[in-house]
Amino acid sequence: RDLRSMQTLLRVFGNFQNLLESSQRDSLTGLLNRQTFDATFLKASMPVQLSAEDAESEAERRGSQMNTFWLGVIDIDHFKLVNDRFGHLIGDEVLVLVARIMRQTFRHYDRLFRFGGEEFVVLLRGGTEKHALRVFERFRQNMQAYAFPQVGQVTVSLGFTGVHAHDTPSAAFSRADQAVYQAKHQGRNQTLCFENLVSQGIITTEGDKVGNIELF
Ligand code: GH3
Ligand code: MG
Ligand code: MG
Repeated sequence: RDLRSMQTLLRVFGNFQNLLESSQRDSLTGLLNRQTFDATFLKASMPVQLSAEDAESEAERRGSQMNTFWLGVIDIDHFKLVNDRFGHLIGDEVLVLVARIMRQTFRHYDRLFRFGGEEFVVLLRGGTEKHALRVFERFRQNMQAYAFPQVGQVTVSLGFTGVHAHDTPSAAFSRADQAVYQAKHQGRNQTLCFENLVSQGIITTEGDKVGNIELF
């Protein structure tokens, strides 16, 4: 009898776990959904818990950059054309494959979201701006190199920003999104860093509080 009640309990717990898991995931791609972004963002910005030994070697390897992370926004280029030419079903298949390429490119501790239609978000753990650029660029190149069934080449425009202490999810998202906008404007299929665009004077933040306030 004990065994049977234990099994019942396990089944209830298992169902509850599945329900929780599926409410956090986008049903088409299996990536995290937009609703989980704020909580994940705040969790991810907390310091990583490492054993003293790990912490020492990690700190050595990465210098003082240990707790930083980066937020990338990915938007598929001319996705409307894919739907128009090949139909919505093929469009959906492209979205599924993009999610797969994301999983193959990023690490298990990076957080991958489908944010809406053809827009994706990555929370990238650790590293310098150069490191983040290299990782995001690798994804852009993997996309460029992939032959999508029937469709052929599909490219993405990508913008990213460093997440700092006291940052908010919407402010960080808005900065990365401005870099995406610039990438689209400059011809698409490229990776741009918000902070880099600011230091080049291409994006101005002076008198424009958009990057610093809650919009929603
Ligand atoms: P840009 O390079 O400027 O980003 O152009 P775009 O065509 O990708 O952007 P636009 O915002 O004009 O169009 C996005 C399209 O994405 C329009 C919509 O039909 C399509 N879309 C959004 N969600 C889905 C989806 O879940 N499945 C499919 N198949 N298409 C979707
Ligand atoms: Mg879009
Ligand atoms: Mg698009």
